[in-house]
Amino acid sequence: MATVSVLIPAAGSGVRLGRGPKAFVRVGDKTLLEWVLAAFAWADEIRVALPPDVAPPKAAANVSFVTGGGERQDSVARLLAGARGEVVLVHDAARPFVVPEVTGRLLETVALSGAAVPVVSVPDTLIEPEDGRYGPALDRSRYALVQTPQAFFREVLAEAHQLARARGHYATDEAQLVKMLGYPVELVPGDRRMFKVTYPEDLALAEALAASWRV
Ligand code: C5P
Repeated sequence: MATVSVLIPAAGSGVRLGRGPKAFVRVGDKTLLEWVLAAFAWADEIRVALPPDVAPPKAAANVSFVTGGGERQDSVARLLAGARGEVVLVHDAARPFVVPEVTGRLLETVALSGAAVPVVSVPDTLIEPEDGRYGPALDRSRYALVQTPQAFFREVLAEAHQLARARGHYATDEAQLVKMLGYPVELVPGDRRMFKVTYPEDLALAEALAASWRV
């Protein structure tokens, strides 16, 4: 199997959650970052981007830390700069529950294609509000929600980041940058338990899931 570097952007300030740097918010008996580190303990290396004012926590020998950048993409660029794996998995620290079956699908698919991301369907009615009122409804069956981890050949992601930097282009995930390169990104079934802890009410869900989650 290819060597794998896991890149974890964890340098967000967690403004929407309102509890300080999000990666250090506790759920069950672990911080969000500790849940993720435990889930990827098998990887050849794990690189974590932290906010500038946060001291790196104690971690296993395969874990290293860098200072994050101004935007998520800047943090990932710094993580990528020192990564050595043939395959990189980019995973938000804000998604504490990593479903091993999804990681398995990603690693299988990326080995064949060079780029693979997990998606789930849109469960709710999807609209474009107009001035705070109900606007046109979109056909939700045509859309998908994109999760992490996202898997790429390291060289493909590095080229995508280089192009984005040259164009001054920013995106909310790596797959957009790889697609901009003209490189096809395969989709694999994700899992709703890999939701991103973003708003205060997400913490209650995360606490409930943590009570029965085994990493
Ligand atoms: O802001 P958002 O929720 O999309 O952030 C996703 C992930 O990116 C989080 O894990 C956050 O810590 C990380 N991030 C980062 N550097 C930034 C901003 C966000 O590593 N400058």
